[in-house]
Amino acid sequence: MSSSVSISDVELLSDLVLGTGPDVAAPRAAIRGALLEPGDPGWDEARGTYNLVVDQQPALIVVPADAAEVAAVLRFAGRHGMRVAPQRTGHNAEPLGSLAGTVLLRTDALRHVQIDAERRRALVGAGAKWEDVVPAASALGLAALHGSTPDVSIAGYTLGGGLGWYGRALGLACNSVTGIQVVTPGAEPRWVDADVEPELFWALRGGGGNFGVVTALEFRLFPISEVYAGILFFPWERSAEVLHAWEDWTRTVPDEMTSVGRIRQFQPIPAVPEPLRGKAFVLVEGIFLGTEEAGARLMEPLRALGPVADTFAMVPPVGIAELHMDSPLPMPYQGDGMVLADLTGEAIDDLVAAVGPGSGSPLVSVTIRHLGGELDRVRRGNGALARMPGSYIMFGIGMTPDPASIELTRGWLETMKRPMRALASGHYLNFTEKRTDPAEMFPADAYARLRAVRASVDPRGILRANHEIPVD
Ligand SMILES: Cc1cc2nc3c(=O)[nH]c(=O)nc-3n(C[C@H](O)[C@H](O)[C@H](O)COP(=O)(O)OP(=O)(O)OC[C@H]3O[C@@H](n4cnc5c(N)ncnc54)[C@H](O)[C@@H]3O)c2cc1C
Repeated sequence: MSSSVSISDVELLSDLVLGTGPDVAAPRAAIRGALLEPGDPGWDEARGTYNLVVDQQPALIVVPADAAEVAAVLRFAGRHGMRVAPQRTGHNAEPLGSLAGTVLLRTDALRHVQIDAERRRALVGAGAKWEDVVPAASALGLAALHGSTPDVSIAGYTLGGGLGWYGRALGLACNSVTGIQVVTPGAEPRWVDADVEPELFWALRGGGGNFGVVTALEFRLFPISEVYAGILFFPWERSAEVLHAWEDWTRTVPDEMTSVGRIRQFQPIPAVPEPLRGKAFVLVEGIFLGTEEAGARLMEPLRALGPVADTFAMVPPVGIAELHMDSPLPMPYQGDGMVLADLTGEAIDDLVAAVGPGSGSPLVSVTIRHLGGELDRVRRGNGALARMPGSYIMFGIGMTPDPASIELTRGWLETMKRPMRALASGHYLNFTEKRTDPAEMFPADAYARLRAVRASVDPRGILRANHEIPVD
């Protein structure tokens, strides 16, 4: 907010935006952030999402410069019967659906990061991405509970749970949060933690963006200076054999090992490094919190299968930021998956027959992440996603460069899910990219509690989350 203009000025001026002849020059000038109407320069960039299939058309876009401007946006929306959808990167934009009558509140400008190495805490703005924290923390011998891509916002990832490479040893990111700065849908800025408004604090940790616009969050960092991590690459013709061996092996590893079994078809495009371009593999990706010697011992049964490439080595925490090889660039795709109560050899055989070698599947990636360990333990003080509701989680992706390929890819994702249905044990909010009943993402008692918190903080349903918990 510029020193000469107050929040109420912004509100008064912003009334004009919805008037018959909106004069957007005044409210635009009144905020330090940005306010965009359809057709304004920068509109298309500001409404863009990671998944290029999604074509967001909100009524307005506001990029607030601080929490006070976030509150002004919420008050404005409340007065005008509009809704507010907070968003950073659009990594999970598809379930939002139509944004008619909705202000898209982009948190991009709230990107401050403070690391307190002594207290092992990070305090970050809602616009910060993991790429803003992981390298800086790593340089201090610290690690955060980030996931497979540096490109998502820490806020969005953590509000939905936060399933990362240290998960089996250290749990979900939402359960490492120590405090949250949030502007409630009633436009009240608050700091919430285990002692101050514990119920709201509980709901925000795993219940998604249903309870307020988060402007900053504080979370624990862990003293980790090196991990044993890497990928084993095998010819994809060996998918069934390798995934069987991986599944057997996951039943033997300690919590310090978090791993992924994966069928991966690299696209024949220049963005893919030459040695991988256009080729297909079955992979085992893994991170071990321990010494090289102990890590190498653990990997022995899988190494004995004879991978064609093996990148396992000791690396600092920053060295695993891109281990999963997620595309750093927006792309058109469809993704889907499910949490699995368990895995069986039969399910693996059926999955490989459905989307593995010889199936004709165009899915570029089918991953199964190993859960369990700390992800399965309900600790006192955990948030709404107290534990992951299964032992494995599957997620598949197919590219959709043109509209015709969207239906086709959806069909292949159904083909992928079919053999696993009998093992399904729910949905994980962050990995749910289709509109899905959020009741399927939480145990019944937690869901009832989330509904009660939502009804108390947002009785008018101003806030629009991608996975919306209904108000009534
Ligand atoms: C390539 C890729 C890799 C991924 N890897 C992982 C992974 O390893 N582990 C994992 O757990 N997830 C992972 N995800 C899922 C990711 O965590 C979710 O998509 C998450 O929602 C991204 O947050 P975002 O803010 O960047 O996305 P956005 O689409 O911008 O936001 C998603 C939703 O989060 C809420 N939200 C975001 N910011 C705020 C805020 N400040 N206040 C209130 N609500 C807010 C809103 O409801 C919003 O609709 C991955 C996704 C992709 C596409």
